[in-house]
Amino acid sequence: MPKTVRPGPSPPPRKRAGLRRRKAKPDPQRVAEIFRRLAAANPEPKGELEYANPFTLLVAVVLSAQATDAGVNKATRGLFKAADTPRKMLSVGEDAVREHIKTIGLYRNKAKNVIGLSQALVDRHGGEVPHQREALEALPGVGRKTANVVLNTAFGEPTLAVDTHVFRVAHRLNLATGKTPHEVELGLLEVIPPAYLQHAHHWLILHGRYVCQARKPRCDVCVVSDLCTSPDKWFEGAPPKGAAQREATT
Ligand code: SF4
Repeated sequence: MPKTVRPGPSPPPRKRAGLRRRKAKPDPQRVAEIFRRLAAANPEPKGELEYANPFTLLVAVVLSAQATDAGVNKATRGLFKAADTPRKMLSVGEDAVREHIKTIGLYRNKAKNVIGLSQALVDRHGGEVPHQREALEALPGVGRKTANVVLNTAFGEPTLAVDTHVFRVAHRLNLATGKTPHEVELGLLEVIPPAYLQHAHHWLILHGRYVCQARKPRCDVCVVSDLCTSPDKWFEGAPPKGAAQREATT
């Protein structure tokens, strides 16, 4: 008698050729409600770097890489008193800039960049900070994130800089889930309602800095906790789901 050949079990869906698990796009109503609440809690959010004009903002942002805003402000108070334009910065010179900012990490390289970008602004832009992304990103020490901050804060463009806080909050709130800051930036630009884009950068940074903190998010005071499904969400007496999962696998 011929043997009956039974089909084997199907492979699990994720292993089937050509199929990849995709995260669902965030629900637009939930996203709008998140920003409505962040806006209601802080209608005119402000960054915490001190500056007097687009040039000093640009310098402050360049100095803020891997440094706290408070540390940068401490150093720039004296520096900006001595030089608040590219030409004045060039006459102050690299040694003096280095001396002013020596309390900030990577200060030698940053002093070089401050002088380099001041020279480039004088040579190529008549001593003014350009409004175009390409021109900004061509300056020494200026990358996409710095250009986004300057375009948004100095020139009112609806750009969105993704730093460590924005990256974390975007993931926890399932607003954007890219692997790189650039991917997260594009994801956020796609889902944030246009009415909130202007201030979205500051709302997300401030939320990440003061509420949705990396090690111990303050979910008990979070205005969007009911809209958050992050495994890191926790309340007194109830450990975060993420921690419980981690324990179970160790
Ligand atoms: S509930 Fe907690 S984890 Fe979720 S966004 Fe708020 S602070 Fe962050």
